[in-house]
Amino acid sequence: MAEHPSTTLFRDYIRIETVQPNPDYPTCMKFLGEQAERLDLPFKIIECVAGKPIFILTWAGTQPDAQSILLNSHTDVVPVYPDSWKHPPFSAFKDENGDIYGRGTQDMKCVGIQHIEAVRQLKESGRRLKRTIHLSFVPDEEIGGLDGMKVFVHTKEFKDLNVGFILDEGIAVPDDTIPVYYGERNVFWIEIICPGSPGHGSRFLENNAALKAQYMINKLMEFRDKEKKRLLDNPQLTLGDVTTVNLTIMEGGVQANVVPEKFKLTFDIRITPTTNIHEFENMIRG
Ligand code: ZN
Repeated sequence: MAEHPSTTLFRDYIRIETVQPNPDYPTCMKFLGEQAERLDLPFKIIECVAGKPIFILTWAGTQPDAQSILLNSHTDVVPVYPDSWKHPPFSAFKDENGDIYGRGTQDMKCVGIQHIEAVRQLKESGRRLKRTIHLSFVPDEEIGGLDGMKVFVHTKEFKDLNVGFILDEGIAVPDDTIPVYYGERNVFWIEIICPGSPGHGSRFLENNAALKAQYMINKLMEFRDKEKKRLLDNPQLTLGDVTTVNLTIMEGGVQANVVPEKFKLTFDIRITPTTNIHEFENMIRG
């Protein structure tokens, strides 16, 4: 059976090695430019930071002044350990079941191709949509988007898109259902450095690093308990409605009989969309 053209396109996209830390963005831009030409739609490449291109494809609606819909995906993928792969990670190998192997198949090149394919099918069927649809393909999401989406949203080019609604990355599903999520929690990672008086481990040293670390851990674990109780007490709430706190890294110390000059604690906190992030930060700082 012949392969569906969009599957071929998807495999071509996987073969472009947009892998961190040196993603091949030039080849990627050429590929996306070819797709825009194929769809006969205008596109722009915007570089807020040199070498970090943002690709915008636009399908104008019948009411171009109405707020637009933005379908976003990122072009980069995370690094690979090639030895751990059954098939080379940029080969887009397809086995007899039709399963395709490649870095970025799920996160999130399949989505980028789905966006292109959706526009192609709608356009070819003669549909015209009221709102303008923009497809954005952004760089460096896997390293925080600092030179990509983060700077782009502050530009005139972004404001000119007049976006009313955005669909972005979700999670992979094994069947044909595509769940749509909203109100996702905000990642808030903090490092707390607890300096203190160093000295010999045989004495009662006051004001030491461990006592401060203990204080901070207790405070954050009390907050964690409160949020956990709030979730358990109310069947209406899901995990997405409460703030989670976890201590994920503890660092410090040199040897068993030395009270160190500091400990460092790393917490993974996920804040609900209804929390005021500035107030939350002030609470932590307080
Ligand atoms: Zn992703």
